[in-house]
Amino acid sequence: RVEAWLRSHASTFAPVVRPAPPDGAVHVFDLSVGSTEWAEPGLLRPDASAERVRDRLEAVGASTGVGRYAEARVPRGDGPDRAGGGAEPSTVHLGLDLFRPAGTPVCVPFDGAVHSVGTAAGADATVVVAHAPPGAPTFYTLYRGLSPDSVAGLAAGQALHRGEPVGQVGPADEARWGAPRLHLQVVTDLLGMGADFPGVAPPSARAVWTGLSLDPNLVVRIDGGQFPTSPLAADEIRATRAERLGPSLSLSYRRPLTIVRGHLQHLYDAEGRAYLDAVNNVPHVGHGHPEVVAAGQRQMAALNTNTRYLHDLIARYARRLTARLPDPLRVCFFVNSGSEANDLALRLARAHTGRRDVVVLDHAYHGHLSSLIEISPYKFDGPGGPGRPPHTHVAPMPDPYRGPYRGRGADAGRAYAAHVGETVEAADREGRPVAAFIAESLPGVGGQVVLPDGFLEGAYARVRAAGGVCIADEVQVGFGRVGTHFWGFETQGVVPDIVTMGKPMGNGHPLAAVVTTPEVAASFDTGMEYFNTFGGNPVSCSIGLAVLDVIERDGLQEHADRVGAHLRARLRELQERHPVVGDVRGLGLFIGAELVRDRSSREPAPEAAAYVVERMKEEGVLLSTDGPAHNVLKVKPPLAFGEADADRLADTLDRVLGEDVVAYAVGGGT
Ligand code: PMP
Repeated sequence: RVEAWLRSHASTFAPVVRPAPPDGAVHVFDLSVGSTEWAEPGLLRPDASAERVRDRLEAVGASTGVGRYAEARVPRGDGPDRAGGGAEPSTVHLGLDLFRPAGTPVCVPFDGAVHSVGTAAGADATVVVAHAPPGAPTFYTLYRGLSPDSVAGLAAGQALHRGEPVGQVGPADEARWGAPRLHLQVVTDLLGMGADFPGVAPPSARAVWTGLSLDPNLVVRIDGGQFPTSPLAADEIRATRAERLGPSLSLSYRRPLTIVRGHLQHLYDAEGRAYLDAVNNVPHVGHGHPEVVAAGQRQMAALNTNTRYLHDLIARYARRLTARLPDPLRVCFFVNSGSEANDLALRLARAHTGRRDVVVLDHAYHGHLSSLIEISPYKFDGPGGPGRPPHTHVAPMPDPYRGPYRGRGADAGRAYAAHVGETVEAADREGRPVAAFIAESLPGVGGQVVLPDGFLEGAYARVRAAGGVCIADEVQVGFGRVGTHFWGFETQGVVPDIVTMGKPMGNGHPLAAVVTTPEVAASFDTGMEYFNTFGGNPVSCSIGLAVLDVIERDGLQEHADRVGAHLRARLRELQERHPVVGDVRGLGLFIGAELVRDRSSREPAPEAAAYVVERMKEEGVLLSTDGPAHNVLKVKPPLAFGEADADRLADTLDRVLGEDVVAYAVGGGT
């Protein structure tokens, strides 16, 4: 009924500020969590500082800036510090902001009487005016952001006639809301709170508070066409995905997240909820890392073209990248994805050996191209998979926690290497000599496995003795993640013939590479050109250089080593208290915690793992599962992840593992 009254009397309202929207020129800002207005490298939320607001309004020729009602915003001062759990932050804005210079008179749009005046925090005064128009229930208009001086003369009960001033817009308060502005609310029930009535609400209570605090545009009446397009709602996105995207694409979580912003080790959903990201290894140095973003933006504005012109960046990047690799790995091919890198690695190996066959580890995944599905047991033996093709030979996964050699230390490494040798020999006997052996230096999809000592050394020796080459897939683990070394293969004391890299290399920009020896590269120089339209372009190289700069300058490899050791120690403590945690393993910030139904049988507990991942998400920590039985909790965060984050993860996991459902899932409950 309040809404109906406001609609039917709209033509009689006096302007709240002058020049009056909707007649004066207005600009409606996008201050939502995912806003790209004023998006700048490293900025967690739009910067609505006095200067920014003034400049922007001047640029678009508007006198009044508007901040939207019911918009979820990243709270000021939020971010890594505020995201540490605890109470749900109030992100949903219940008012309409009118950004006007300090001193702007603010007037009541229709007759009323002062209900309450509050001058809570320093410079910010609030006035609530009660309205009891004939034919409508009593309701209230609330004015916040006024200067205390300007409201000093008001007394509760005082009548205010249409168009009379309630006060003036106060000065900027950069610490709280930025530029000078009136925050206007229309409230149907003050719940006895008067001037303390909240201006923001937690997302979980959005419906309740927006039910009590109506859209102030019923009073201000800015034309809907002036508002920026709202992003599609989650259910619309889902429906469109179902209709317009390939159905073989999955979503994470039972109730999928709408993620609209990333900042270092945190992700933010559309309602401004912060999540500690403990699983995305692609944003290697951190989501939206300011230096990486700036490097890409600058170079994109200057030049982005193919590699058939001389350009300094590809040369500098090739030098910097190969400086991180042992000799004789010094010839680079730049591509756009890990899959492209592995496909090219196969072509190189095949050209070099004149053979086709490949030895892989069981459960491995090496990419989504046809050539790689054929060498990925995770795919060809998985759902919808066509089975193993004749040119692929599978050696057992050297998993120290499972299999025949568990608990055998370096013996296990040697024993599994011998299996690779047998696989190579068996292929030979079939008349299918092996071109290459490809393995991740720490198998990821295979279950976050740390290879037993000596495995790659023994495997490489046998493959090479049989005339094959050795490919290290560093797509997941390279670039310092393993802490003690820059590359995963270095932890095994080997030098591959071909190294492939991707994911972390461009911090999310599609940059990947193959690095090999001059000999292997020469064999590939058959007269057929290798040209890659996007690979190695100046923008990619600029970003790749920035990633290396940040890793090196900020000591992120050492950081991964230290924080990873701390997190594993914390997880091992949990293992002592929670029988479901069968194994904790990893190197640096590449960590797996394997959940089992029974410590002695080591029977996997995938239901418990799925439950834990969902509950951790509800608690604001993002993890996922991996491994052939989907029972390994996977931890591989952006390297901005620190010790406090590790503690938060461990503390939260401790609570979740203690929940009854986990005990039921492993058969321990009644
Ligand atoms: N190799 C490994 C080990 C991977 O984990 C992946 C991706 N999950 C790939 C290759 C393929 O990389 P991309 O998705 O960039 O093609």
